[in-house]
Formats: sequence, structure tokens, C-alpha cells
Amino acid sequence: MSIATRHNLREEVETFLSHSPFGSFVGGNHVSAVSGNLIATIDPGSGETIAYIHDLAPSEIDSAVEIAKKAFPAWSEMSRSQRNRILLKLADAVEEQKAIIAQIEALDAGKIEAQAVGDVQNFVDTLRYFVALSEQVEARTQLNAVGYDAWTVRKPWGPCAFIFPWNFPFLLIGWGISPALAAGNTVVIKPAEDTSLSAIYLARLAKEVGVPDGVINVVTGKGATAGAALANNRFIKRMSFTGSPQVGQLVGEACGRNLVPVKLELGGKGAAVVFDDVNIKYTAEALVEAITFHAGQVCCDATRWLVHANIFDEFVDHCRDFMKELKIGHPLDPSSQMGPVVNPKQCERILRYQELGKAEGAQCLYGGGVAKVDGCQGNYVTPTLLKGSLDNIAAREEIFGPVAYLTSFTTEEEAVQMANDTDYGLANSVWTEDSERAIRVAESLIAGNSWINSHNVFAQGIPYGGINKSGMGGGVLSIETLMDYYRCTSVVRPAS
Ligand code: NAD
Repeated sequence: MSIATRHNLREEVETFLSHSPFGSFVGGNHVSAVSGNLIATIDPGSGETIAYIHDLAPSEIDSAVEIAKKAFPAWSEMSRSQRNRILLKLADAVEEQKAIIAQIEALDAGKIEAQAVGDVQNFVDTLRYFVALSEQVEARTQLNAVGYDAWTVRKPWGPCAFIFPWNFPFLLIGWGISPALAAGNTVVIKPAEDTSLSAIYLARLAKEVGVPDGVINVVTGKGATAGAALANNRFIKRMSFTGSPQVGQLVGEACGRNLVPVKLELGGKGAAVVFDDVNIKYTAEALVEAITFHAGQVCCDATRWLVHANIFDEFVDHCRDFMKELKIGHPLDPSSQMGPVVNPKQCERILRYQELGKAEGAQCLYGGGVAKVDGCQGNYVTPTLLKGSLDNIAAREEIFGPVAYLTSFTTEEEAVQMANDTDYGLANSVWTEDSERAIRVAESLIAGNSWINSHNVFAQGIPYGGINKSGMGGGVLSIETLMDYYRCTSVVRPAS
């Protein structure tokens, strides 16, 4: 049986995959690696190779930046209304092809298809949001300085670089490039080597709808070579990196050497603080949903669950019940609720952390180990609940899988201290019916984002970003993100 039949692939997806091996897409053209080196793209749900992508060499990445640089003057000097018309056509085209892109994404990233549909719509909404916002940006702002006639003029920077991870490939491209393009910059995108297909699809679609060649470029290849070449390129005007803190440091170092402004969106080890006045069943279900969403491969997940001692046991019982009911399966099986993790390496990482955690004294309350899915040889793991003290390795380091680490507390001060005892600072949540306490605790948590009675909440217009080991440089999704993609010049003359 062919892959297409087995997975109920859409004809358009089958046609797209038949174009493998995929070159990069630069300056409106397909670009193959001169070396001929290829990287296999594997369906995490079945372990089957579905395509190959070209593994570009550093010099080929530099050429792509050169092309983005050449395309910049025409794109930046185009009238804003004309540029935005083109970007809105791209948003419309992505929306029209949502089902196709979502299926490519589901197959490539191991993402439940319905969730991938949501990711693609999020891309569309983000692009439209930044296009609309850019209409409100004044190119010149008059300044109020006694004795001077002065103003600030805003211009786009030039070619901007983006390096993305594999967990939300298409959605994160939307968060990253939309403000850059709407401000008039050109972009070079380096997707993760595991999940490059939707980025390639996007670049082709952009050409079809009339985005000028060289404005949106996608370069494929390995992180240590292609990614590092992009981070080290002296001609990029801004860098945005989303991924692990370890690689983020390398990218930050490279940008520091070249004095290129850098935005780092990194990992997390968020807490959910659950007080004893909550609806226990509802809260357990919400947190199980959060930790199993995309198999826990979500940077802002609550992975440390701090639960009031009065309700701890009952809360755990409900969590176990919800986890037991969860249907684990292939991302394109409509009945699946949780899919695989992205690759065998990620699977091993999750299992290793479970073992290390237990070796340091954590108790396994539910799950652990791999999950079997009939007829699929993919990278499936069981949702897992660990319990223990917070100095345990599984409570301190990012696992990036469906593993929650539980501990109990008795006072509000203790809970806040526990939640803040981490190197990371991405997102936490507080769960309580007491509105004043909710606000007090949410505002005391040291991170970029604090959510009340919910987790993983995003909206265009609400800034999202991390602090400490979770990132730096301004975050995404808000007016500030758009302003990052304009450089400012103050123009001053003594008043006559
Ligand atoms: P990763 O850091 O291994 O890889 C991210 C990207 O960097 C990939 O495209 C990779 O090819 C590239 N890369 C690897 N080595 C490189 C190098 N030396 N120089 C330049 N680029 C290089 O991360 P991952 O495993 O793909 O993703 C998981 C991580 O991403 C987790 O830590 C997660 O928390 C984080 N993440 C953060 C956010 C956020 O918004 N804060 C969002 C999603 C994921």
C-alpha cells in the first residue's frame, strides 16, 4: 500500500511530495545543493521517508542573503499600499490552501491534522494583523525638543534572517516574518531540517501570488552548517532565532560579533500553580490537555504542576483518568488526540529524562516509556506524571515531551517561590477562583507571560516572549514586534 493510500493523502499533497527532492527556494528559483547532499524528511507517525530536502553549504546560504539584499530596495521602496496588497494576497492564498498546507505540516511534523489547520489559520491571522498594523505606522514622527525642529524617520532594515524549530514550523514562520515583511524588509528563512516542507510550499505560493522574487527566501540544510552560516552572515540586518537555549547562545554570539540585532525565543520550564479552591476535575483536564497538546513539544507548556496539598491526590486521580482516555495515534487519523514526537532522538531524550528523574528519586504516578500504536512504527511516547522534589533533574531541565512533574505546596508564598525557582522565564499559569489572589500571583511570577485559569493562550496584539534562559530581544505578536523591524533616524535642525 502506498503512503498516499495509507494516510488518505490529498491529491495536491501527493503531487507536492512527488517533487522531492526539494531544493531551497531563493530569488524565486529552486536551488539545489551543489554537493548533491540530501536530508530525509520522515513522517514521525510512521517512520517512513516522505521526501528529501537539499542540504545547502554555507556559501550557498551566503548567496541567498545576497539575493535578499538585492531584492530589498524595490520591496522597501514600493508604496505601502501596494506591498500590503501583495501580502494580503498571500494571506488569502494560504487560507485557500489551508487544508493542503495543514496536511503537509501534519505529516512532516507529526502534528494532529486538526491542530495543523489551526496553525495555518494562525499564520493567516498573524499576517493580516501585521499588515493592518503597518498601515498605522507613521514614517515620520515629529519630536518635541525646545530650540529644534526634529523628527524621527522610520525605514526597514534590509534582509532579515529567521531560524525556526520543528514544533510549530508554519505558525512560527507567520509570527516571525509577518512584521518584517509588512515593514518592508526582505527575509531569509531557515526551517528546521526535520520540518522544512511547509516553508518550501509557502515560498512557492508567494511567487505564484506575486511576491517579488528575492523577498521571501527559504534555505534548507543542517543547523550546524546552514543555520550557523546564516547566523554568522555579516550582511543580515536582523536575526530572529527560535529554538533551544544552547543553540540560541551560539546564534547570539555570532550576532554579537557582527553587531547584528538579535531576537531569541528559547525554551521554557513553566509552572502551573493550582490552589485548593479550583474545580479540580476541570483544572486537571485543562492541564492534561496542555501537556499532551502536540505531545508536549511546546515551549510555553506548564511542565511543573504545583498543586495545593489539600487537593493533590484527587487532582492526580483526575489527571490519570484523562491520560488513560487519551487516544494516541497517527496525526492523519481523525480519531487521534495525541500524535508522535518529532524524531527518534526526541523520543530518546524524553525517555532518558524519565529515567534520570526516577534515579534522582522521582516517583512515576502515571505512564512512562513508549506507546504502541497499531500499524505505526512512529515515535510515540506515553503521557507521564512524575512526582517529587523540585531539585530533581526532570523538574529543572526542559524535557519537551508529554511529561508533567508534580509537587505540592501549602502557602501562596511557597508556591510563588517554587514557581520562580528556575533558570527559565517563559510562561506560567495560576489556577484559583479567588480573583485577587489570581492577579497577585500572576503578577509575582517571573516570566514573559502569566496566564490565569488557562494555559497556552495567544492572540495577535498580546506580546509573547521570554526572559532569562527563555529568551531576549523583544518577543513576538505585538506592535513592539512590528516596530523592531523599522530602524530609526533622528533628523534635527536648529529652529530658525
Ligand atoms: P534547536 O535549537 O535544536 O534548533 C532550532 C533551529 O536551529 C533549527 O532550524 C536548527 O537547524 C537550527 N540550528 C541548530 N544548530 C544551529 C547552529 N549551530 N547555528 C544556527 N542554527 C542552528 O531547537 P529544536 O530542537 O528545533 O526546538 C526545540 C526548542 O525550541 C525547545 O527548546 C523549545 O522550547 C524551543 N522553542 C521556543 C519557542 C519560543 O517561542 N520561545 C517556540 C518553539 C520552540
